Amino acid sequence: MSVRLLTAPAIEVAPGRVEARVSCDVARMRTTDVSGLSGRALEALPGLARHTCDNGLDLPVAEELGDTEVVHLLEHVAIELLLRGAPAKDMRGGTRWDFERDGRGAFRLLLEHPDDLATLAALKCALALVEVWATGGTGDVEGAIAEVRRVRRS
Ligand SMILES: [Zn+2]
Repeated sequence: MSVRLLTAPAIEVAPGRVEARVSCDVARMRTTDVSGLSGRALEALPGLARHTCDNGLDLPVAEELGDTEVVHLLEHVAIELLLRGAPAKDMRGGTRWDFERDGRGAFRLLLEHPDDLATLAALKCALALVEVWATGGTGDVEGAIAEVRRVRRS
């Protein structure tokens, strides 16, 4: 039986922001725990390498994603899908966790973007893509971008 890498048991939508609770399989919480994951992500979405990330280490994003929380990678994938499908001037993401309060493997992913439907579509597609990449597949990136574009409000 295979265990899902990521699930999103609750999502809150407010003007300009979507916050998702994301549960990550505790045996695979870092990208280094999932062989080839970050490489497949960067190959499928080369734009990830151009993101800026306040990682406090001044690492290039491509390097950062190679050894970070899987949910942090998910955040950047969702942002990239928004950049490609529903670009907006002000968008940003954040990944936080407090395992003592929320339980081990429980993350909070924040996406700030003016279009809530596009943001929800990007989150849904990003969850599916990371799951596929985690099992060695390539995923349908163009289909994901098309879905974000299809639901966006303007
Ligand atoms: Zn980041």
